[in-house]
Amino acid sequence: MMINIDQAINQTRIRKIKRTLKKIISYAASFETLSDDALKAKTVEFKERLKNGASLDSILAESYAVVREASRRVLGMYPKEVQLMGAIVLHDGNIAEMQTGEGKTLTATMPLYLNALTGKGAYLITTNDYLARRDYEEMKPLYEWLGLTASLGFVDIPGYEYKKGEKKQLYDADIIYSTNGRIGFDYLINNLADTKEGKFQKPLSFCIIDEVDSIILDAAQTPLVISGAPRVQSNMFNVVKAFIDTLTKTIDYEHDEKKQEVWLLAPGVQKANQYFGLTDLYDAQYTALVRNINLALRAKCLFEMNQDYYIIDGEIVLIDKISGRLLEGTKLQSGLHQSIEAKEMVDISEDMSVLATITFQNLFKQFDKFSGMSATSKLGEKEFFDLYGKVVVQIPTANPIQRIDLDDRVFINKQTKDNAILEKVIDIHKTTRPILLITRTADDAEYFSKALFANHIPNNLLIAQNVAKEAQIISEAGYFNSVTVATSMAGRGTDIKLEPGVDALGGLSVIISEHMENSRIDRQLRGRAGRQGDPGSSQIYISLEDYIVQRYSNQTLLHNENLLNAKSEQIEESKVLKRRIKQIVTRAQIVSEEHGTLTRQMNNEFDRSVSVQRLKIYAERDKILDKEQFDTFDFKQLAHDVFTRYVYTEKIESVRALKQYIYKNISFQFEDEIDISLLTDKERLIDFLVEQFEKSREAKKRQFKDEFFYVHFIKKCMLKAIDSGWIDQVDYLQQLKGNINSRQLGRRNVIFEYHKTALSSYEAMTSEIKRRMVRNICLSIADYDKKGNLIIHFP
Ligand code: ADP
Ligand code: MG
Repeated sequence: MMINIDQAINQTRIRKIKRTLKKIISYAASFETLSDDALKAKTVEFKERLKNGASLDSILAESYAVVREASRRVLGMYPKEVQLMGAIVLHDGNIAEMQTGEGKTLTATMPLYLNALTGKGAYLITTNDYLARRDYEEMKPLYEWLGLTASLGFVDIPGYEYKKGEKKQLYDADIIYSTNGRIGFDYLINNLADTKEGKFQKPLSFCIIDEVDSIILDAAQTPLVISGAPRVQSNMFNVVKAFIDTLTKTIDYEHDEKKQEVWLLAPGVQKANQYFGLTDLYDAQYTALVRNINLALRAKCLFEMNQDYYIIDGEIVLIDKISGRLLEGTKLQSGLHQSIEAKEMVDISEDMSVLATITFQNLFKQFDKFSGMSATSKLGEKEFFDLYGKVVVQIPTANPIQRIDLDDRVFINKQTKDNAILEKVIDIHKTTRPILLITRTADDAEYFSKALFANHIPNNLLIAQNVAKEAQIISEAGYFNSVTVATSMAGRGTDIKLEPGVDALGGLSVIISEHMENSRIDRQLRGRAGRQGDPGSSQIYISLEDYIVQRYSNQTLLHNENLLNAKSEQIEESKVLKRRIKQIVTRAQIVSEEHGTLTRQMNNEFDRSVSVQRLKIYAERDKILDKEQFDTFDFKQLAHDVFTRYVYTEKIESVRALKQYIYKNISFQFEDEIDISLLTDKERLIDFLVEQFEKSREAKKRQFKDEFFYVHFIKKCMLKAIDSGWIDQVDYLQQLKGNINSRQLGRRNVIFEYHKTALSSYEAMTSEIKRRMVRNICLSIADYDKKGNLIIHFP
C-alpha cells in the first residue's frame, strides 16, 4: 500500500490526541460512582483551580470526563471516543473533520464547557437560526445541570425589538449558541454604542464554528454591512448605460469570462472621449465617470438575468447561486446594483453609504481562539492554514464508512443527462429504496420534482426557503419509498436516519445532478448518505452543458469536433469520449476552485487594511468609553496637533480668514483683536489658537454644574468625532475596493495600491477626527430634556 503523506501526518496528530484521550478515559470509572451533587461540584472546583492559576490545558482531561459522565446522566448519551478526540482538537483551536452523523453537536459541549469556565464566554456558531436553536435546546440541560448558564444569542422572532439590557443578558451567558450573521452584526452594533452601558457583547474570546468550511470559506466573501444614509446619488447610471450600449465586445472592451473581468480597450476609450466630449477620459477629474463605465460594463457582462438576479415588481432581486434562494433586501455595493438597474431600465434605487462592515474572515479573527468542525474540512485544509493558520485533523468514524461513491455518469448534454437521472430515480424507486436527488439550482429541482410527479412518483421538493420545515422533511428522507429533491443547501446540518430495514436495500441513494463549484461541496452532498456506518451510495451525473463547464472550461476544448458531433448513444459506448468529457469537467472544477481561492485571498488582503484600522479605532473608542474623568487628558496636545496641521497646510492670508477659522472651529463668540504679525509667525499662531481653545473649553466646563455631565459631554463629543470620521473612512475604503479592482493593474499592484491608499487615507482620517473633536468640544451646545438628561447639539 502506498503511504500517503497527509495520512501519515494525520496519524501523528491522532497519536498525540490519543494520549490525552487515555487520560480522559482514565477518569471514567471513578466519576461514574460520584453522586450527582459531587459531579456538579466539579464545576465550582474547576473555576477555583483556574483562579488559582491552573491552565485550561491542565484541567482538560478531567473536565471532559465530567461533561461526559454528566451527558450520560442528563442527555442519555455517552460521548464516544471519537467524539472525545474531536473535542480535543476543538480546544486546540484547530479544525476537526468529523463525518455527518458522528455527533458534532455533543462533541462541542466539552470544549465549550471547558472554555466557558473562564467566564469570558464561549460561542457555538452555526449557519442558521434553526440549527442554533435546535442545538441550544438540545444541549442546554447539560450545561445547566453542570452549573453553567447557556443562551440562544438572539430572540427568534422576525423583526423583534430588543428591550434595554436584553441583549446584554443573552451575551452574558457562559455559553452562547448563535449564527455567524447575528454575531457579526452585533459585533458591529456593539462598537457603535455611545455609552459603556450601551455595550452588550463581551470581548470575543472563544468560539467553535459548526459547518466551518461553509461559514469561513464559502460564505467568507459576503461582508456584513450596516448601511447608513444614502450616498450622494450619481445621475450618471442611465447616461453611461446608453453609452455602453454603443460599444462592441472585443473591439471596444474585453471580457475575460474565466477571471470574471471586463475592461475598456483603447478604441472604447476613444469613443468615450467623443461621446462625453472629453480630451482624456483618464484625467483625474473624470474618475467618477471611469468608475461608472466600469460598473456598467460589469453589470452588462458579468451579471445575467434569471441566473444572477430576477426582476420582481420592477426591482432587481439577487439570487444566491448555491441555494437558489432569493436574497431579498440584499444589494450589491458601491453602485454596482444601480448599474444593473440601469441596464434593465428599472428605477434606480438609492445607494446607501456603509456605516460599518466586516467580513466573516475578519470577524473570527477577533476571537482570541476559534476552532471549527465539519464533515468536509480536509479539502479546505490549505486555505484554513493560509488564511487562519489552522490545521485540519481527520477524526476516524465510530463505525467504518460503508457508503459507496460511484463513478460519475457521463453525458453529452443536459437533455440526455436529465432523462437518465429520471430513469434512474424511477428504477430505484421501484425497489422502495429512499432517494435524495440534489441539484445545483432551484430551477432544476423544480423541473425534476414536476417530472417525477408526471411519472406518478410523489416527492418532496426542498429549495431552501424554510429551514425548519426542510429539516423536518429531510430527516424523513431515509424512509421507504421516500423521494426527496433538494438544492445543495437545503436541510444542511440535519441527520438522515434510515428507517429500519432500509439498510438491507442499500441505504439512502444520493444522486447529484452535476458537480458543484468545488469538490468540498460535492463531498458534503455525498455525505448525506451513509451516516454512522450506514450503507448508502452516491453518484454524480455530468455533461458538457454543466454550469462549471460552461463557466470555467476552455472554450476550444468544448468545440472539439468529435465531441460536438458525437451522438448521445456514441458517448454511452465510447470509453474514450467519456474519458474526454470527464477530464473537461474535472478540469473545470479545478479552475473554479482556484478562482474561489484566489477571490478569498484577494478579499483577505483587502480586508487586512480595514481590519487593522478597525481594531485601532474600536480600541480608541473603548478607551474613551471607559474614562471616568478627563483631568489627565492632554487637551492641549490634541489642540496643538489640530492647529499645527491647519497652520502648516493652509494658506492663511488675512486676519479675516483666521477669524473665520476661529468662528468655525473654536468659538462663535470670539471678539479679540488679532495682531497681524501672528500670520507670519506660525509657532506663535499655533500657541495663540491653543490658548483660544483652552478658553473655550474652560467656558464650556463652567456651564456644567455637575462634573458628571461635563465628562459625559466630552465623551460624546469625542465619540461623535471618531464615529463620523470612521464611517466616512469605511465608506471610502469600500468604494476604493470597488474602484481599484477595475483599474487595469496586476494583482500584486492592486493590493499594493490599495494598502498604500488605505494607509494614507487613515492618516488623513486621524487628523480629521482630531479636528472634529476640537470642534465638537468647542461648538456643541449642551441642553437638558424634561427628565434632566443631557442632550447635545453637535455643530
Ligand atoms: P453531526 O452534526 O455530526 O452530523 P449530530 O450532532 O447531529 O451529528 O448527531 C447525530 C445524531 O447522533 C443525533 O441524533 C445525536 O443525538 C446522536 N448522537 C450523537 N452522539 C451520540 C452518542 N454519543 N450516543 C448516542 N447518540 C449520539
Ligand atoms: Mg451537525
